[in-house]
Amino acid sequence: MRPYYPDYTAPNLVLTYGDLTVEPYRLKEQWTYRLVNGQYVSSEAREQATAYFETLTVSEKHSVKVMESGTHGTIEVRAVTSDGVVEIELSEDGSFVPLVSDEAVDYQLMLIYPENDLGLPVGEIAYDMSIYVHVSPKVHLSDMNLTQGGLLRVQIENIKPDQTVEFDQTIVDEVIQYRIDRTVYAMIPFIYWVEDGQYPFIIKLGDGEQSSVIYDSVLHVTDRAFSVQNLTVDITVAAATRNDDAYTEYHAEFMPVRQTSHDKQLWDGPFIQPIEGRLTTDYGTRRRVNGELTSYRHNGIDLAAPTGTPVKASNSGKVVFSKKLILTGNTVMIDHGLGLFTYYLHMDKRNVAVGDFVTKADIIGEVGSTGFSTGPHLHFTVSYHLTNINPLTFLEWDGEWPN
Ligand SMILES: [Zn+2]
Repeated sequence: MRPYYPDYTAPNLVLTYGDLTVEPYRLKEQWTYRLVNGQYVSSEAREQATAYFETLTVSEKHSVKVMESGTHGTIEVRAVTSDGVVEIELSEDGSFVPLVSDEAVDYQLMLIYPENDLGLPVGEIAYDMSIYVHVSPKVHLSDMNLTQGGLLRVQIENIKPDQTVEFDQTIVDEVIQYRIDRTVYAMIPFIYWVEDGQYPFIIKLGDGEQSSVIYDSVLHVTDRAFSVQNLTVDITVAAATRNDDAYTEYHAEFMPVRQTSHDKQLWDGPFIQPIEGRLTTDYGTRRRVNGELTSYRHNGIDLAAPTGTPVKASNSGKVVFSKKLILTGNTVMIDHGLGLFTYYLHMDKRNVAVGDFVTKADIIGEVGSTGFSTGPHLHFTVSYHLTNINPLTFLEWDGEWPN
């Protein structure tokens, strides 16, 4: 039996999502239909002035099914985004996966009745509606088990522009975050004096008024043995390089550089050890200088090598410090972006200037024994902003964010 339509009410288009059925708003119609007596009638072209959009909220990657109550129409679906109109392909059963956006996306649906010899209605009906895809944040952590000197890396995806990420933890005063599009990147450095034990680690998502927990777990920090090193330094060298002026200069010139970092990732893959050399002083070592125990903890690693050995940039980045200081001698610091820094001390020569962009393994200087030093070696430090971490465990990282 041929369908007929008793008035100008066009067939309905409905979207189904789970148990929900939503009727999109009918925006325009122009079609010809047949009455029971066989007479053809054209509906008046109608265009609605007021736009009322039905908004359907769906979960990420869930599909919506489009159905029509007629028998021979075809359906076309377009999404209107800020970047333009996107044709949406319907699968065989008439379903599609809505686009992800920070806001509800407007969809235009067309029900098309093609020309036919069967006396069936011919024409087009345009519908309008919005679909909002609710995307939940995804939290990725590099490792739950850390040693003193370790670095926890956190990536949180699907954060909307008006949302904030808060960390509830006691390891660092403040978790410094970087946001690129919808992703938040942060690192939590574990300095040598973080005690072993269990540390609750909670991440919350705030929207200005409320916050909700999106991650709740416990970090396990294990102890590392730190040795004490006896250092005998020529008293004239010690007096000339380790004095009030040396520390004042170091704190004034060198320390502020790591407060801010490039807001994009500049490093590429794993970090490399800047020279081949014998490890003479490990990270976190305490020191007794000329018989006296100091409060100092060695903030990097010392690698002994002959004067003139080329020093490679551990990874790509921007040179943010290049100067000879009383305490640290010829000193270079590279900002690798998103809070990561490496620095190189006691060099004989420096090949780079502040502002230079370097590529991983570029030669930035030569090994020497300038500043407070007992012989030719490279002192290499890795830090997340002001917190120095263990370079040797850091060098095992592949440079990728957890995912
Ligand atoms: Zn050192």
